Amino acid sequence: MSHFASVEMTPGDPILGLTEAFVADKRPGKVNLGVGIYYDETGRIPVLRAVKEIEQKLAAESLPRGYLPIDGLPAYTQATQKLVFGPESPLLAAGRVATSQTIGGSGALRVGADLLKKALPNAKIAISSPSWENHRVVFTAAGFDVVEYAYYDAATHGLNFPGMLADLDKLEPGTVVLLHACCHNPTGVDLTVDQWKQVVALVKDRNLLPFIDMAYQGFDKGIDDDAAAVRLFAESGIESFIVANSYSKSFSLYGERVGALSIVAANRDEALRVQSLVKRIIRSIYSSPSTHGGALVAGVLNSAELRALWESELAGMRERIHAMRAGMVEKLAAQGAPQFSFIQKQAGMFSYSGLSKAQVDRLREEHAIYAIGTGRICVAALNRANLDNVVSAVATVIR
Ligand code: PMP
Repeated sequence: MSHFASVEMTPGDPILGLTEAFVADKRPGKVNLGVGIYYDETGRIPVLRAVKEIEQKLAAESLPRGYLPIDGLPAYTQATQKLVFGPESPLLAAGRVATSQTIGGSGALRVGADLLKKALPNAKIAISSPSWENHRVVFTAAGFDVVEYAYYDAATHGLNFPGMLADLDKLEPGTVVLLHACCHNPTGVDLTVDQWKQVVALVKDRNLLPFIDMAYQGFDKGIDDDAAAVRLFAESGIESFIVANSYSKSFSLYGERVGALSIVAANRDEALRVQSLVKRIIRSIYSSPSTHGGALVAGVLNSAELRALWESELAGMRERIHAMRAGMVEKLAAQGAPQFSFIQKQAGMFSYSGLSKAQVDRLREEHAIYAIGTGRICVAALNRANLDNVVSAVATVIR
């Protein structure tokens, strides 16, 4: 008799289901705007030159593959701290930051969630409305009650800032608040520096615990500007906060699963105690992270020459995204749809386009253009070869 007979079919990830339908679609000129991946101008996932160079160097060295420490490669975690908090951060000098290499940004979120559940068993978590689907999934799986704070304003395709502040102000002290550092997924709507300052003041005043998810550092304005939220929390005097960061996009290393979890503690001693608990948690899930991706990122970040090359390639990716946003807005306006100008104000790979579910269905059925039912499109999947096609199709389905 089977021991699994009672297991029912669990619904799959809707975004992955969309990709399967896209792959099966035989129509020429099909476009997949449903993905969460940066494609280059030729429609491929780029292999960065900086990554290629370090990979060749490492291959020539053929280093043995022993286990990494539970919290990862020190050269990786130290370089990550400087990138996330800034090389001159007083928090780093004071030994207040405990960083672990994790299995992607997703792994950082889950390890962080497990840590919080142990340290603050009764805390809730508040996520933006809407947020990346997996935020709810990960924190629910870790045993959290997930609540939402107002974020996106469908009327303006921008931020409902008064609503956000009002909702954050109602949270109980000790509530964890998940914040997107930049390039908000799925909306593309970010806070200005001035708005961040107000959020930091409120979080401090209400004694909330910020958990910053930074999956797109360098994808909008630049490495330091995109980390403005992290830097403002660091300067604020808040004693505890958390950052999960990912190199999946910024290094185009999706499948290498390169991320990190950084816990900011009140002092060096507290940071060491927190890190001992983080290590216990990691040990109980996957024991230690993998060697290759971490070695690639550390190798690039710790070489002046490769770092400069990477920064220029990262700048190229964000400039291409900006150009696609500008191109889409301009071409839509030329086709009689000037109302899409907000796309240029949004940041990062994604845009909440405002297209309805019915319009998204028509894009797919009539034009072989795939997007998510919420109207989220991946602007980083546009290129000069498919832009006209996408714009004409959008202009048709909104009529
Ligand atoms: N947070 C957000 C907001 C994301 O969009 C993503 C990736 N889609 C992640 C975290 C996870 O990143 P990773 O692929 O490195 O696990």
